[in-house]
Formats: sequence, structure tokens, C-alpha cells
Amino acid sequence: MTEYPHLFAPLDLGFVTLPNRVLMGSMHTGLEETRDFDRVAAFYAARARGGAALMVTGGMAPNREGAVMPGAAGLFTDEDIANHRVVTDRVHDEGGRIAMQILHAGRYAYSPECVAPSPIKSPISPFAPAELDEAGIEKQIADIATAAARAREAGYDGVEVMGSEGYFLNQFLVERTNKRTDHWGGSYENRMRLPVETLRRVRSAVGDDFIVIYRLSMIDLVPGGSSWDEVVILAQAIENAGATILNTGIGWHEARIPTIATSVPRGAFAWVTKKLMGSVDIPVITSNRINTPEVAEGVLADGCADMVSMARPFLADPAFVAKAKAGKAATIAPCIACNQACLDHTFEMKLASCLVNPQAAHETELVYAPTDQAKQIAIVGAGPAGLSTALVAAERGHTVTLFDRADQIGGQLNMAKMVPGKEEFFGLIEWYRTMLDELGVTVRLGVEASADILEGFDEVIVATGVLPRDPEIPAENGAHVVSYIDILTGREKAGDRVAVIGAGGIGFDVAEYLTHDGESPAENLELWLQEWGVTDPEEHRAGLEPEGAKPAPSARKVSLFQRKNEKPGKRLGKTTGWIHRASLAMKGVKMVGGVSYDRITAEGLYLRMQDGSKELFECDTVVLCAGQISDRSLADVLLAQGKEAHVIGGADVAAELDAKRAIDQGSRLAAVI
Ligand code: NAP
Ligand code: SF4
Repeated sequence: MTEYPHLFAPLDLGFVTLPNRVLMGSMHTGLEETRDFDRVAAFYAARARGGAALMVTGGMAPNREGAVMPGAAGLFTDEDIANHRVVTDRVHDEGGRIAMQILHAGRYAYSPECVAPSPIKSPISPFAPAELDEAGIEKQIADIATAAARAREAGYDGVEVMGSEGYFLNQFLVERTNKRTDHWGGSYENRMRLPVETLRRVRSAVGDDFIVIYRLSMIDLVPGGSSWDEVVILAQAIENAGATILNTGIGWHEARIPTIATSVPRGAFAWVTKKLMGSVDIPVITSNRINTPEVAEGVLADGCADMVSMARPFLADPAFVAKAKAGKAATIAPCIACNQACLDHTFEMKLASCLVNPQAAHETELVYAPTDQAKQIAIVGAGPAGLSTALVAAERGHTVTLFDRADQIGGQLNMAKMVPGKEEFFGLIEWYRTMLDELGVTVRLGVEASADILEGFDEVIVATGVLPRDPEIPAENGAHVVSYIDILTGREKAGDRVAVIGAGGIGFDVAEYLTHDGESPAENLELWLQEWGVTDPEEHRAGLEPEGAKPAPSARKVSLFQRKNEKPGKRLGKTTGWIHRASLAMKGVKMVGGVSYDRITAEGLYLRMQDGSKELFECDTVVLCAGQISDRSLADVLLAQGKEAHVIGGADVAAELDAKRAIDQGSRLAAVI
């Protein structure tokens, strides 16, 4: 008997029965663009083996003008079809099923060739689209239908027609982007003609016994987006046009409301899908921030949907479903929704991976093969670098002892978990604890690992991390100057008026921590919806609260300073930096760049401004978040004694250290040791 009866109930689609209710949602990994289809196949085969009932590929372009960027993958030639067969065959060999997503980007295409219903540039693209004429529209429909037929030829079990997130089909639906006066614009009946006709033509191109998913934007989260009535009318029309399943899309890409970031509560939008239940007879999938079997089971049991879509959780752990089924949910590597190695990479034109699991999308290149020479390995430091090294080394068959002078594992992760909106780090640390146990790693906490203690090990790995940098700003008697560690560990309390020195990732985190009081909105959906101004789309078009965002008042008056004369927060994650900036701006945090620090007194922080003038910023507390230096105390002792040691993570290079680099470096070292 499974703990998750709804999750593991089969789903009968008429011509095929899915073994469970888990869809691996579409993710752009960049693998297809490498044209190494063995690598693409290895990625999907691992997830098929891991038990996803049905997987959806990253978006494939139906034609040049619809490609998200020049060179984006698609099924254009016989060779493309043969290449994709390599993938579908491998998935089928593993007992899985895979559908190809057809993604026409419309005005979101990063190309001067982009096309749209009307020539209106999107706020997130530098290119104004060309308005399609009648023949152009017919070509787009025909190309999407052809792509679907080619997908069938390539062995896919279905297609997903991307109709949400503000892409091409979505752009026809709303007056914001569709100003046409012909029969493709004007009334809602006209505006929905293109998506419905496209779906009808796709169905007729692929036959009856082929899965056709339509991803429908259920809450646009942009001004002038669809009303709830329109969503229901469209869903029913898409069902009548031949869709097998409806998937949920949440928010257009240009929406200024976070939809998948870690600060979004788990399952935050399942209630939107639930509103559609009963209005259509085909299965409906819900999506966004579902990252554990418990959450997935909960939304299904609650009648929010017939199936759940999880995408990034399958990067973190390809065996998500198999582990849940085996009653081993605690061993599922959690997706912490950080976007750091997946979406941020995609936007930086790099291959996607996963902060928690560097093997993701690197399956053929980063292999954890069993060792034929088992060693005694000592690892000093139980932060992300040391933890990942320990797990991979133990998995490969080495005997591992992990030391930390602290009385808990996690290192800097213990700081991150205290920040409102970063609660997922609790789960990540818990997972490490479970896995250390599962893999039989000896953990020695509260132990200062000296050179003597490390005698006798075959390999020593130093992952002692970082120490906060002291910016050496003169401080006078009575000044309250503390480090971010003092604040986030609760050792020190900040006053009502705070200056944060350093506007990097940690400065932003500390400002977030200091502005919140009481329950974190990430753990209270109602608070979160209110904070970002999201409301029931049945009450207000597109789910936008007319009165806007209503964040709780800031717990303190906080200002953030940096010396660089650039926009504070500019270097934060590509896909999450704007959320951090917006969130602090809503709390009234002042962000000042281009200053230098003169001294700190009981009155506050004396600054030298860009024009050379001096200014006193009155505050009760100054929090130092001025970056990190490597803690090399142990490494230097070992090296001075002529001993060999591998130095990794922050102890190796402190600059721009984050958990992604630490985990990647640790895992890669352990893979070859
Ligand atoms: P950081 O991002 O390098 O920022 C350090 C800040 O301190 C900068 O604003 C810098 O700005 C300032 N600074 C550096 N030297 C200084 C000095 N001598 N005097 C005064 N100010 C100085 O480092 P961090 O904030 O400590 O973060 C560490 C790492 O963790 C980073 O790689 C960061 O990306 C990562 N992290 C990421 C997240 C995330 O959400 N993804 C969250 C937390 C941390 P100026 O030099 O212009 O003054
Ligand atoms: Fe999840 Fe972060 Fe991994 Fe992306 S990088 S899959 S968001 S844990």
C-alpha cells in the first residue's frame, strides 16, 4: 500500500493508461542544441527509469520565426527526426513515455524575425514583432501541425502545444497583444480562433491515438490578461478541438509576480487549476512549486487536478517517483527552487544542470562509478562542498568520515535557511542528514579536525569554507557593528534602523531577514498572495488585485549600501534578482551605490558620497555583509607539513562562492577520487 494513493492511481486516457499521475513538465536544458543525442537520450532515459508517467521535452520550434532564439532546436529535417528517434527509443526501452513540446515564441522570440498578432514589442524583448497577414497566420498553424506529425514520426507518444506563459498562441487571446480587426482579433471568439484552430489541426495531423496536451494560461498575471470566463470558454473549446489533457500555465513571462521562485509557497497556484475542475471532461494537470510527494498527493487529494506537473524536481532527482513509490521519499534530493543552475544557466546560454544534483543534464559526462580501490577518506567541513563530496565518495564505495567543528551539518546553508523565502534550505539540510545516514558516512560534529586527527586517512579533503570579510571600517565606542552571521544565527539583535554594508547575495538576504517579522509569506499562501497582489481571476481579470501589492509593513527601516556605482543587486541571479529587488523595494529598503565608508559611531554610519560630500546615515545597527575570505587555517597547516590535501569550496576560492559551485566541485572531486 502506497503512502500516496492519489499519486499512484493509474490514469486512463482511452487509448493509453498512464501508470501514475506525475508529468515531468517541459524544461529547456540546452541539450538538444548540442546535437549530441546520446546525451539527450541519457537525460530523458534516467527520468523514465525514475518513474515519471509522461515527460514533456523542452520547447521545439515549429519554424524559424517561432524559435525562441536563432538556432533553437526543432524537427525540421529527416535527420532531426532520426536524431529524436534515438531519444524516444531510449525512453521506451526504459518503459517511459515522452511528448514533444511545440513552442512558438511569437513576440518573445529573441530574433528580428519574430512574428505576432500585432506589432507590439514585449517589455522583455528588444525585438518588435512583425504583424502576421492571413497567409502568415495560416503558415504558423500549418507549421505547428507539421511539427506534431513529425513528432509522431520521431516516435514521441504525444505533443504538448504551448499555449501559455505569454507565448504566440497566448498573444492572440488578449487585447493587450492582439489589436487585430480581422477575424483573428476583436471579440473573444475571434481572439481564441488561432489557438483552437491550431489544436484542431494538430489533432487531425496526428490521429486519434496520440496524446495532445494543451498548456493553457489559467491566470495571466499581466494587466489586460484573460478573464476567468475566457479561460473556461477556451478550455472547453480546446477540449472540443481534440485535446487529450489540459496543462496549467501560470503567468506570462513578462509578469512582475514570481511564479516558481523559492519564495513562492509550495503548490501556490493549485487553487487556480481547481477552479477549472468540472468545467471540462478531459484530465487537467496542475503545476508550479510542487516539489515533494506530500505536496503532490495533497493537491490531488484536494481535487485540484487529475495530475501534477513537476519539472525542476526531476533535475534534482531523476528517481523522484520511484523513490516515493518505494516509501523512500526522504531520500529524494529536493529541488529548492533556486533557479541557479537550471533557469539561470538557460538565460546565460549555458547548459542547464541542478545546484543539488550536478549530474543533471550531464549524465554522460559526470559519472559516479563504483570504485575498485576503496579508500579511507576524511572530509573536513560539513557545508555544501564537504557534504556533496561525502555523499558521492560514499556512494562510490569509499569509507568516509566527515568532520565539522560546529554541532550541526550544513555550514552556510544554516544561514540561508533563516531568510524568509528560503525555507527550502531546511529540507536540503535534512536530505543531506538522511543521505549521510543511508550511505554510512561517519559524522563527527563538534570536532576541530587537526593534522593529527587526520593521520592515517588515504585522502584528506579540506572544505572548511569561508570567513566573513572585515571591511575594516573604523568604529567608535558605542557603535553597534555586527556581522551577517551574528544576525542570521540570532546571536545579535538589530535595532530599528539598520545599515547593511554590502549589497551582494548575503546583503540582500540579510535585508530580507530584517524587514520581515512574524510568519514568512513563503509559508502562508494568503499572506503571499496579498504581498504580491494576486487575487482570484474570477473576481479580477488575470488575477491581479486592482489595489496592487499589499506587503506587510517592514519590521525595520533598512538601507543597503555598496561601493560600486551600479544598480545594487545587478549581479544577483538572472531569473531571481528582480524578485529580491522588488521585494525589498516593497518594504521601503533604500539601496545606495557609489559610496565609501568613513567610520561608524553610536549615531550611525558616516558615508562619503560620489560627489565627495560626507553624510551621516543615522542608524542603530550596522550589519557587515562585505563578502568572504577563504578559511585556509587547516589547509595551510597541512601543506606546511608537506601533507597532501584536496582543498575545495570556499576554502579554495572564496570569491563568488555559492552552494552551486561548492556542490559541483565536491561532487566532481569525489567522482574521480
Ligand atoms: P558578494 O556577492 O561578493 O557581495 C559582497 C558585497 O560586499 C558586495 O556588495 C561588495 O560591494 C561588498 N564589499 C566587498 N568588499 C568590501 C569591502 N572591503 N568593504 C566594504 N564592502 C565590500 O558576497 P556575499 O554577499 O557575501 O555572497 C557570497 C556568495 O554567496 C556570492 O557569490 C553570492 O552570489 C552567494 N549568495 C547567493 C545568494 C542567492 O540568492 N543566489 C544568496 C546569498 C549569497 P562593493 O565592493 O561594491 O562595496
Ligand atoms: Fe531546483 Fe535549483 Fe536544481 Fe533548479 S538548480 S532544479 S531550482 S534545486
